[in-house]
Amino acid sequence: MIHDAVVIGAGIGGLTCAAKLAKSGLRVLVMEKNPHIGGTSYIFRRGGYSFPMGPLSIGFPDRVKAFLSELSIQAGVEFKRNHFQLMTPDLDIVYSRPISILKDDLKRVYPEESAAIDAIMAEIENIIRLTKNMDRRHPDFLAGLKKKKAVENLSFSDKKKMAAIKKAAGLSSREILDRSIDNVHLRNLIGSQGTYPPEMSLLNLALMWNVMSEVGIWFPSCGIHGLCDLLRDAVLACGGEIQTAVPVTEILVQNKRAEGVRTARGDVCRAGWVVSNADYKKTILELMDPSHFERSFLEIVRNVPYTDSELCVYLGVDPRRADLSRMKATHIFLRKKVRQEAAGHPEDFDNREIEICRWSDNAPDSVPAGLAADMVLEKQAGTGR
Ligand SMILES: Cc1cc2nc3c(=O)[nH]c(=O)nc-3n(C[C@H](O)[C@H](O)[C@H](O)COP(=O)(O)OP(=O)(O)OC[C@H]3O[C@@H](n4cnc5c(N)ncnc54)[C@H](O)[C@@H]3O)c2cc1C
Repeated sequence: MIHDAVVIGAGIGGLTCAAKLAKSGLRVLVMEKNPHIGGTSYIFRRGGYSFPMGPLSIGFPDRVKAFLSELSIQAGVEFKRNHFQLMTPDLDIVYSRPISILKDDLKRVYPEESAAIDAIMAEIENIIRLTKNMDRRHPDFLAGLKKKKAVENLSFSDKKKMAAIKKAAGLSSREILDRSIDNVHLRNLIGSQGTYPPEMSLLNLALMWNVMSEVGIWFPSCGIHGLCDLLRDAVLACGGEIQTAVPVTEILVQNKRAEGVRTARGDVCRAGWVVSNADYKKTILELMDPSHFERSFLEIVRNVPYTDSELCVYLGVDPRRADLSRMKATHIFLRKKVRQEAAGHPEDFDNREIEICRWSDNAPDSVPAGLAADMVLEKQAGTGR
């Protein structure tokens, strides 16, 4: 059978895409190399506990709900807001509350910085207003004819907003914070939501605070793996097919268009469209013939470093034998020592942030009866996340 689209990978991204295509009436085939769906957004079980393999909670629950209802999924998924706490020798604060509350909390800790806190947060709130639903109307998020039309239809005020957004994208949050805030711990908290020096543009910083404080970060009652299960069901209900334990080894290209895939077993599957949910390095460097790309482009892809978490430790904890009273939020970013020099030895855990998540706060069924807590300790890379 010729499929309209082959999706490589059944992670939450691949399943989302496959569900959308199948709902639009396309004949979709998903090929997943692992024996299970979900990719990083799944769980594993050990000794009566279940632990998350990757994501602990997510932003934009309304978007998720809207997408599920677009797929006619009536699963009654509820979302619970998660909060985040930063704990260092100098600071112990829950920083995920709305910006209006966060400002007061920060001013109580740093009264001498009150005016600077108001000023920088006003700038951040202004950018949040300008970028609200940006992905639904900004031409940069569109392609082809839709992009052309959106550019033609821009009003004077849209153009002004776009210019302001572009300007914020070119401003260094580090320079702005260095100029306006004296206290290094406050500067780093506002600039990285942690203990590292600010690295991003003012635009990205505002987008990050929007998710953390205004939109919030939430846990779906079915679990994030449960969202994957719902998406799988939607693909199947719309006539799509999902094959697991089928690694794709090659994306076939004819006349500069993808025309199908080859699997590790040597089977060829032709399709009008190929969507890769494998990460872009793997897609470009491993699944495609390098002759399709400029050498300079391949070099750029090769040289982009991997980022974020370095390792995770999963613990089943008996709360009767552990003092968890200082945990005021489901997620804590803990740094025992804050030496300002760049992070040194990879085993210098004291001078790095470690995220501790009390997973059973979100998913009480993930622990055996009588025990209450399972923890995920995740060591973050030494730079801003
Ligand atoms: C430790 C950790 C913690 C995280 N925490 C959060 C969080 O709290 N909140 C949040 O929003 N995000 C978090 N993330 C990020 C989030 O997990 C990812 O953005 C998301 O899961 C990516 O989904 P995806 O479908 O794009 O990719 P993946 O989950 O990587 O799925 C890709 C799929 O493609 C399959 N595949 C790859 N190559 C092939 C091939 N050749 N043939 C067939 N199949 C193939 C893989 O097996 C996999 O199933 C975290 C990530 C990690 C690692």
